[in-house]
Amino acid sequence: MDVLSAPDRNLADALTGIMGREHVREDATERAYYAADLFFQGPPALLVVQPGSREELVQSVKACYAAGVSIVPRGGGLSYTGGYVPKGPRAVIFDTRRLNRVVGVEADDLYVTVEAGCTWAALSEALSRFGLRVPHSGPASGRVSTIGGGLSQNTLLFGSSAAGTAADSVLGLEVVTGPGDVIVTGSGAVANGTPFYRPYGPDMTGLFLGDCGALGIKTRATLRLESVPAGIEYASFRFPTFESMITAACAVGRRRLATDCLGSGPWSPPGMEKSEVLPALHLVVEGRSRREARDRLLEVKGLCGHQGTEIEPVVPKHLRAYPFTFIQSLQDPTGRRMIWTHGLVPYSRGLHLYGAVVGLFNEQASAMARHGIAATISISPVRGAFLVEPVFYWQDTLQPIHERGLGGEIKPTVAVPASAAATEAVSQLRAGLRDLFRREGTVHLQIGKFYGYRDGLAPATFAVLEGIKRNLDPRGLMNPGVLGLG
Ligand SMILES: Cc1cc2nc3c(=O)[nH]c(=O)nc-3n(C[C@H](O)[C@H](O)[C@H](O)COP(=O)(O)OP(=O)(O)OC[C@H]3O[C@@H](n4cnc5c(N)ncnc54)[C@H](O)[C@@H]3O)c2cc1C
Repeated sequence: MDVLSAPDRNLADALTGIMGREHVREDATERAYYAADLFFQGPPALLVVQPGSREELVQSVKACYAAGVSIVPRGGGLSYTGGYVPKGPRAVIFDTRRLNRVVGVEADDLYVTVEAGCTWAALSEALSRFGLRVPHSGPASGRVSTIGGGLSQNTLLFGSSAAGTAADSVLGLEVVTGPGDVIVTGSGAVANGTPFYRPYGPDMTGLFLGDCGALGIKTRATLRLESVPAGIEYASFRFPTFESMITAACAVGRRRLATDCLGSGPWSPPGMEKSEVLPALHLVVEGRSRREARDRLLEVKGLCGHQGTEIEPVVPKHLRAYPFTFIQSLQDPTGRRMIWTHGLVPYSRGLHLYGAVVGLFNEQASAMARHGIAATISISPVRGAFLVEPVFYWQDTLQPIHERGLGGEIKPTVAVPASAAATEAVSQLRAGLRDLFRREGTVHLQIGKFYGYRDGLAPATFAVLEGIKRNLDPRGLMNPGVLGLG
């Protein structure tokens, strides 16, 4: 075990006094594990703390702030843009997963208040007893990833073609700032009020959504609810080309016909025989009644059947039946690592962005072949935007987080040979994509330290954010580095 300096020993003792020895982790393995995401590895955390209540969290944040160490929030740890990877060596990582209670379901007023460390899967299960759900009911990683992580990155997937990102479902937040102040947003901040409504003056809630934890640690969120619709239909189509799939997906997205609409297919290097696997689009179509769902499905079939061939909707049915076990492992079935990079554009730019991504891959085809890097591209119309998400697959040793699997019960079984050169090549490909996305004017969800938020933003706009950051965190200790702040 590393020996802490005298001031850091004092801090560790103070934190132990607040939450007990078992929740202040000083061992080297844990400090390294918590400091690495699925792609980036930072210096080991000084300490890892696991507060069990808001009060413990506030006291711990105050102690860290007074000691001048960085405060880094972490949820399930399933991101890959360096969002919780410490920027420097004196960082205390706040594991929020013990703050996991569903505080209250207000079925008549259609909202739920939940602690930030609760997983999307646990929240969905609690709501299913009421026949209710959050319009965006979580990302595929939601068996392990948390509400706090999702709101700090504006996740999307389940429900997103109709309901948008996690940010669109939020009514209000409770956030602990660097100095340890507790801020409430939305109508929950009103004297004698309840957290039933978000708009009231400037959108203070929106300020903290997608902030990657730069402005504070979310401790609670109030989310909008809706009834689970009575009608549900499924459809899947194979398309002769990616382009025809994107055209159909955009048409479905613009009309908001589907709740979920996800497409993907392999990228084939130029000169190689085209993959036999055609791109496929999978849709979940809902309605307040079964008839409404069926009518929508007919419209979807009209739009997709034009160029697509209908196939058994096994994938969307599975997606809905087992939403949070849809992805079982952090490696692909052959044991390779995988990593996602994405950009969002308006529907009308979806085809163009896809073409630009393929152009980049074609340019890099020989480097990709040399390092054994394969790629697929996923697409999805989400409410008001179009997502293009290339995925890379390659062989190398795993990050510590891979070793613990996705939730513990399913461990990757295939041993893969190390290839640091392949990981470096993937790193360069991701950087190339990031530059391309910037040229194309895309926006991103999981910004972290990767997407260069600061570089791409109008300076006057970024200056406003910097002013807010200074006000909330004068010493710049709250998750420094994310969004290009601090
Ligand atoms: C297999 C797999 C499937 C995935 N599927 C999807 C998907 O369908 N859709 C999608 O959008 N993403 C997906 N992701 C990406 C990722 O899992 C999500 O973005 C998820 O929301 C991350 O949540 P987390 O709790 O793991 O956050 P973490 O990775 O722990 O943290 C993410 C960021 O949020 C900050 N943060 C965490 N908790 C708090 C808090 N309480 N207060 C303030 N800041 C906080 C961290 O500092 C960090 O910057 C997937 C990833 C994997 C590995």
